[in-house]
Amino acid sequence: MWLAMAAAFTAWLGGYAVLCAVKPFAPCRRCRGLGEIERFGKPRMCPRCHNHRLRLRVGRRVHNAWRRTHAAGTRPMPERTTR
Ligand SMILES: [Zn+2]
Repeated sequence: MWLAMAAAFTAWLGGYAVLCAVKPFAPCRRCRGLGEIERFGKPRMCPRCHNHRLRLRVGRRVHNAWRRTHAAGTRPMPERTTR
């Protein structure tokens, strides 16, 4: 039971990682990718994405934060010299 759940979660995580690498942007959740919402019967600019229609996936945001932190915490790569 637990092994099957762990295997399913790992498979989902791998698929999500591939999705974040291939398609880092997803349609905005508030306006479903339309860029505007209807408010009081009139179309208005989406307050969440400001007409950009897309949002960065959560997994990609986490990956970017991790990369930024890693780059800030490590020495810059020494220049490779050919001898
Ligand atoms: Zn939106």
